[in-house]
Amino acid sequence: MKRPFGQHFLFDPNILNKIVDCSGVTGKDTVVEIGPGLGRLTGILSERAKKVIAIEFDKRLIERLTDELAERKNVEIVQADALKFPYENIKGRFKVVANIPYYITTPIIFKLLEYKEKMPSMTLLIQKEVAKRITASHGSKDYGVLSITTQLYTEPLIKFTVSRKAFSPPPKVDSAVVHFTVSQKNRYGIKDEKLFLNVVRTAFSQRRKTILNSLKKFKGIKDALDKAGIDPKLRPEVLSIEDFARLSDNIKEVEPQ
Ligand code: SAH
Repeated sequence: MKRPFGQHFLFDPNILNKIVDCSGVTGKDTVVEIGPGLGRLTGILSERAKKVIAIEFDKRLIERLTDELAERKNVEIVQADALKFPYENIKGRFKVVANIPYYITTPIIFKLLEYKEKMPSMTLLIQKEVAKRITASHGSKDYGVLSITTQLYTEPLIKFTVSRKAFSPPPKVDSAVVHFTVSQKNRYGIKDEKLFLNVVRTAFSQRRKTILNSLKKFKGIKDALDKAGIDPKLRPEVLSIEDFARLSDNIKEVEPQ
């Protein structure tokens, strides 16, 4: 069978309960679930949350899902693409809890982060390998643009891993549950976030170059490195997010191309 929607369902109640435990969801919370599938996680969420908004893209699943959850009055099932959903229309704040389709992992995280004022946390089951990249610290081989851009607004923590065998049908990779505590503002007091992201992306576009060489396009980079107290011969992966923050705060502007 072709699975264009990244469909790998979970049925083990222990794992499903553990995911909800990690989310910290209580009876006061509105929860958004992305990709409810056959609704097993949705059922548990509906017992513990005030309200669940379940966004499922696959039209073929909607009828089954509606039947499955018919008794659960606090569940709203929406047929939509979670990447295009207007989250701003949700009343009040919401927490996200989901076993997401893996093909949308990074775009959905960044889409949801557009709503960080309304969303105190996300608890997501994702590929283990991506979970490691998201949570990596400087000096690790997994550290890079994804680690820095997610950690700029969130504190991500791997809660536990899930074997591919727990899913039906099993995916080709192992998974991990990551809890993201979301901040409303960037966590490093960075003045110009656009410039910071430009610096980080440019630095990592040539991982093996020294930081001075890869950041040549920024005017006064030598001075900025000096002021930030960063050795210009270092490679980007050894610089912490604080280092990049200090560096970008000391850069004046980008040299016109
Ligand atoms: N949460 C369920 C299913 C996980 S599989 C469980 O744990 O068993 C991922 C689910 O996401 C599938 O139901 C799939 O149809 C749905 N999906 C895929 N792409 C989507 C998108 N863009 N928006 C919303 N749901 C999507």
